[in-house]
Amino acid sequence: MSRLTRDDLDLLPSYVPGRNPSDLARELGLPDAIKLASNEVPYGPLPGVTEAIQQAATQVHRYPDMGVLALRNELAERYGVDSARIATGCGSVALTEHLVKAATMPGDEVIYAWRSFEAYPIIVAGAATTSVRVPNTAGHGHDLNAMAAAITDRTRVVFVCNPNNPTGTVVRRAELERFVDRVPQDVLLIIDEAYREFVTDPEVPDALALFGDRPNVVVLRTLSKAWGLAGLRVGWLAAPSQVAEAVRKVVTPFSTNAVAQAAAIAALRAGDEMRRRTAKIIAERDRVYKALLTLVSDIPESQSNFVWLPLRDAAAGFAAACERRGVIVRAFPGDGVRVTIGTSEENDTFLAAAEAALAG
Ligand code: PMP
Repeated sequence: MSRLTRDDLDLLPSYVPGRNPSDLARELGLPDAIKLASNEVPYGPLPGVTEAIQQAATQVHRYPDMGVLALRNELAERYGVDSARIATGCGSVALTEHLVKAATMPGDEVIYAWRSFEAYPIIVAGAATTSVRVPNTAGHGHDLNAMAAAITDRTRVVFVCNPNNPTGTVVRRAELERFVDRVPQDVLLIIDEAYREFVTDPEVPDALALFGDRPNVVVLRTLSKAWGLAGLRVGWLAAPSQVAEAVRKVVTPFSTNAVAQAAAIAALRAGDEMRRRTAKIIAERDRVYKALLTLVSDIPESQSNFVWLPLRDAAAGFAAACERRGVIVRAFPGDGVRVTIGTSEENDTFLAAAEAALAG
């Protein structure tokens, strides 16, 4: 029988969403389970967001503003970027897809560190372009020298994920500056800063401020993490205006929906509360990291809202043992486990589960 879809998609890994905690609780007969698998912030929507959603809900019989003008203007003002250089999408993951679509032809090469965000290989394969994965350093971070050396005349896009998901590692200013200078001007360099708000190391540059006006640099941000809007799907990018324009052309029409646009504006206006919540997560991250160091060696320091346990062959077993204790973490079998920082109570439950898992 002839195929209706591309053969090569059979080889493509599926994106793994975090498991549903109510299903797990039911299965285990527990009152509830804890999900520390998707890097969400646990404190609910920011003040003003629910009201904005309710207000926007009265107009959902209308299409949203396709140009996303009010939200783009809000972002432009807050981040000091011309709104012509901003595009929004259904999560920054969708923007990643649009960027690859806008910049590549089948057979072109896209370079990224590995392990990094698991959507990159899926998106690259979906666009029929070729992934060039550059192994992380022994310290679990990007090997920028090797990434620069991997650039060929077929390379169209390079990703730098800073901080890196799932290892939490960062690329610092001097190293990134050198790298940016080495990427040819006709190659799109996408700096994915989904976790920027959790960075405390002053040596980690804000790519928007430092490289925002380079002719081939795109900075990706999301409202899914620190801004608490994962369920509404709003990501944005700042790019040279010609690239932003191309992305706005290939984006699925109306994909930043009306409720999401209104909620995103409300969230951005609650920046003080976002920073207060982020500070709590950062304090918890440092506490959890120190506690885990007594259990597992070689944990990279995290500048994000998760920690990486390089458990290698023990990764899947560790995650399963945590799950039996009602804590859902994210295993990358054979490699490591990523644990999202939750509330202090959730983190305590996880630490107890981790101790038991590693003891047993
Ligand atoms: N980039 C990175 C590095 C991520 O970890 C994520 C979410 N897991 C995204 C982009 C996409 O986030 P969203 O689509 O929710 O904006």
